[in-house]
Amino acid sequence: MYSEKVMEHFRNPRNVGEIENADGIGEVGNAQCGDIMKIYLKIENDIIEDVKFKTYGCGSAIASSSMATELIKGKSIKEAVELTNKAVVEALDGLPPVKVHCSVLAEDAIKSALYDYAQKNDIEIEGLENFEPREHEH
Ligand SMILES: [Zn+2]
Repeated sequence: MYSEKVMEHFRNPRNVGEIENADGIGEVGNAQCGDIMKIYLKIENDIIEDVKFKTYGCGSAIASSSMATELIKGKSIKEAVELTNKAVVEALDGLPPVKVHCSVLAEDAIKSALYDYAQKNDIEIEGLENFEPREHEH
């Protein structure tokens, strides 16, 4: 049911933790699995210098956050904005259809952290003009 890569990232997630004085923090959740995902970004000269995450949720949510952080680490803000959940799913060699929303959560968490960074620095990030941080339900 789960690919080797999903299992591997679930058992051995990369970039777990918090960043003190993070430049951007994004927190999202979904009611379907009860997943809560928090992403911390350290940004310097438009580059994602460091990224960490804390995810409480199902295995797919943890694997998705782990893979998503790997995909944006060291990349530019522009590249991070362009990261789609589809790219995360592909990098994981697929997710079961009922678990695809967990990868959407990873995309949203990153966008929301970038949005937070933009708000704090009073800048506009191309591609996030229409972004609306979603309130998560508890
Ligand atoms: Zn989930």
